[in-house]
Amino acid sequence: MLTHVLSRCAVKPALSTAHVARLSLRASLARGYASSSSEYDVVIVGGGPGGYVAAIKASQMGLKTACVEGRGALGGTCLNVGCIPSKSLLHNSHLYHQASHDFKSRGIEIGEIKINLPQMLSAKEKSVKQLTGGIELLFKKNKTDYHKGWGKIVSPTEVSVAGADGSNTTLKTKNIIIATGSEVSPFPGIEVDEEVIVSSTGALSLQKVPEKMIVIGGGVIGLELGSVWGRLGAEVTTVEYMDAIGAGMDADLAKTFQKTLQKQGMKFKLSTKVISAKKNANGKVDVVVEAAKGGKQESFEVDVVLVAIGRRPVTKGLGLEEVGVEVDSKGRVKTDSEFKTNVEGIRAIGDVITGPMLAHKAEEEGIAAAEYIAGGHGHVNYGAVPSVIYTYPEVAWVGKTEAEAKAAGIKYKIGGFAFAANSRAKTMNDYEGTIKIISDAETDRILGAHIIGPNAGEMIAEAVLAIEYGASSEDIARTCHAHPTLSEAFKEACMATYDKPIHS
Ligand code: FAD
Ligand code: NAD
Repeated sequence: MLTHVLSRCAVKPALSTAHVARLSLRASLARGYASSSSEYDVVIVGGGPGGYVAAIKASQMGLKTACVEGRGALGGTCLNVGCIPSKSLLHNSHLYHQASHDFKSRGIEIGEIKINLPQMLSAKEKSVKQLTGGIELLFKKNKTDYHKGWGKIVSPTEVSVAGADGSNTTLKTKNIIIATGSEVSPFPGIEVDEEVIVSSTGALSLQKVPEKMIVIGGGVIGLELGSVWGRLGAEVTTVEYMDAIGAGMDADLAKTFQKTLQKQGMKFKLSTKVISAKKNANGKVDVVVEAAKGGKQESFEVDVVLVAIGRRPVTKGLGLEEVGVEVDSKGRVKTDSEFKTNVEGIRAIGDVITGPMLAHKAEEEGIAAAEYIAGGHGHVNYGAVPSVIYTYPEVAWVGKTEAEAKAAGIKYKIGGFAFAANSRAKTMNDYEGTIKIISDAETDRILGAHIIGPNAGEMIAEAVLAIEYGASSEDIARTCHAHPTLSEAFKEACMATYDKPIHS
């Protein structure tokens, strides 16, 4: 127990950074924010997770707020053509796959199992409609004005809105937040028609399960959407330029993950580049690839090609050049730690600025930007932003990878635990995967957590909290976890990090 008490003292900050920001903000809000009725306090351009969350938060803090969105629905990429529709398809395709391949061994016998793709797509549409409509209701509840149309910043205090009905309105405002998000990065020379050569948007609405599919890019989108169509029966080959999949996840996890997906039938061509992809006379696609370092070319004829090589910020037509807002070499709006651009009164958040392109990162920034405007204090802990890949099993991580800890010259310890030794995972017959914890060798403070396994996306929340509060692996190991739960595997991995696990 003594080591436990000492480690707590060694690693715990007096208050978390979030707590300090909250206290400062409350003090500022008590001083008040003056606003006149003739203009907005803040106008947000873009109604995605960054923009709509910033709008609601600003309204809740008493700021007169408007959100301008051009696509005709709130929720941005995430709700309309990203997180939500992809998770609906991932969930339902997993159920189909489980019913087809797994039920019998669990003692469940049912008749012939068939895919009804139109019904699966309409279930996806239903979840999107319910959630995007829900944000409109939240706007009404919080008295946030919603302007439907494309916004352009015409001066640091004016946003013009070109409405779908041909109207043009100018909104006067004290502050502007740019939250225009991102769009699919094009692959030079490959023309996306959203039918046989698709981006993620087309891959969410294929009208037929392709027999053969090539996915260009072994990142998050490629692996999630490749999994969807693979489970529904497509033969999926992923072509990745780098020598590993997973766009930056811990190398050990990436290897395990690739093996797992291969067992499920996904094929991989790593260290390989795509030379061309063209629609042919049969309505299929001819794809030519070769080794990234050069060499013999290979050709394939496939039904569908998914281009998933990343996303780029949306700033076109926004008026940035005219008002002098600076962007970096990748076209992202440059901001300081308070999300301020170089132009007084204009801030930017979410995918359009630097950092991981994740909905929850955009949301955190939205809240912090609104708080900075209202009271001068905000908070985002970029060291505690989790990543989740919603495949089966899920992959989730937060904090440093082992390679990052090594590169930073940190002395670290590693502990691991396999789900095969977790009783709940065994009862679920769902025990593929493992947990890896990295902690500081001196203080035992948790630096990173990496999970592949059932429910990893939910379990990572415990690791995020641990990092946010500066917990040691011993802190978690000595915290009582309910039995039998998957979360006991996380506790055991922490036990393995500071001492020894009990169950392996
Ligand atoms: P966006 O969501 O892109 O929203 C920006 C909005 O601004 C858009 O609605 C756009 O129409 C609007 N806009 C642009 N210009 C203007 C203008 N001039 N005037 C008015 N409106 C404008 N992230 C996760 O965290 N988890 C996931 O599971 C996940 N899954 C994804 C799956 C897919 C297939 C894709 C493509 C992305 C996924 N993402 C996921 C990423 C996530 O969608 C983005 O990180 C997130 O949407 C970024 O939020 P944002 O508000 O910055 O931008
Ligand atoms: P990504 O950056 O995750 O992966 C792109 C992959 O394509 C990389 O592995 C890269 O090496 C590879 N690549 C790039 N050029 C290539 C080429 N010419 N040939 C072969 N491979 C090439 O990008 P993405 O998968 O398109 O996703 C875009 C963004 O959306 C990501 O930032 C991601 O965070 C976000 N997203 C998140 C989730 C989630 O949180 N579950 C889901 C989907 C998308």
